[in-house]
Amino acid sequence: MLFSKTMALPGWSSVGRWTLFGTLACVVASLVFTAVLFKDLDAELTRRLFVGATVVPTIIGAPLFFFFSLRLRTLTRANLRLNRVARTDGLTACLNRSAFTSRVNDWLAKAPADASGALLMIDADNFKAINDRYGHEHGDAALTIIARAIRSTLRSGDIVGRMGGEEFAVLLPGVNQYQAQIVAERIRLSVIVTCFAPEGQAHPLSVSIGGVAFSAPTNFAELFRIADQHLYGAKHAGRNAVVVASVEDHPIIKLPLSA
Ligand code: GH3
Ligand code: MG
Ligand code: MG
Repeated sequence: MLFSKTMALPGWSSVGRWTLFGTLACVVASLVFTAVLFKDLDAELTRRLFVGATVVPTIIGAPLFFFFSLRLRTLTRANLRLNRVARTDGLTACLNRSAFTSRVNDWLAKAPADASGALLMIDADNFKAINDRYGHEHGDAALTIIARAIRSTLRSGDIVGRMGGEEFAVLLPGVNQYQAQIVAERIRLSVIVTCFAPEGQAHPLSVSIGGVAFSAPTNFAELFRIADQHLYGAKHAGRNAVVVASVEDHPIIKLPLSA
């Protein structure tokens, strides 16, 4: 198949297959058409007609099918690139908010009932002061440094996104509360040790992290709410801090349908 459900880039073998089968289909159609239309002619004329009915569609069909399957391949590649751009935050190369949300929702929907994991919300500390002091461009540079520091601590299956402004989120599949706490601490430390020196002047960067670990079916909105709540806890604790809770400490309150 030239297009799979996940829109993979068709390989050269696929281009070759389409050219071959497309051309063969044209030849077969041409032969059938000739046989039906010219069945009463003498043997020599019939032989010539059948040779023509084979050669002409081959000469025309093969380059045409090759061209179209090549165009399809180019378009698929462009489409894949556009998809990637649409999902990626241009400054930090993390997933953008909507792509992160949809990846996490997908993961939660497909995860088995006993799957565990954690969501971390990460917010740069006193970031406005960096912009005010050094300007927006240096602020942007600081954001890319923070994003790189976060990514450098994660495993390949972890999902990281920029939720907007100077706020990031990370989903850690398969971890428990203790492991999530360790990863969050590692992120906090890796940001602290980064080198951000606008105008040749070292300026410390730090983040505050709020997190929630889960080990039962849950939903993104709930995880986001709890992690955000603890992010503010970390801010109020003086910033450059980590607070990771368990979702069990925050039972989902089901309101009665009628007040
Ligand atoms: P806190 O420690 O409480 O989080 O303080 P803060 O200054 O980091 O938080 P605040 O919400 O007051 O300010 C966030 C700042 O982040 C303000 C905004 O200009 C800046 N910011 C948001 N997005 C970007 C961006 O893409 N680039 C730059 N350079 N700055 C950004
Ligand atoms: Mg901030
Ligand atoms: Mg913020």
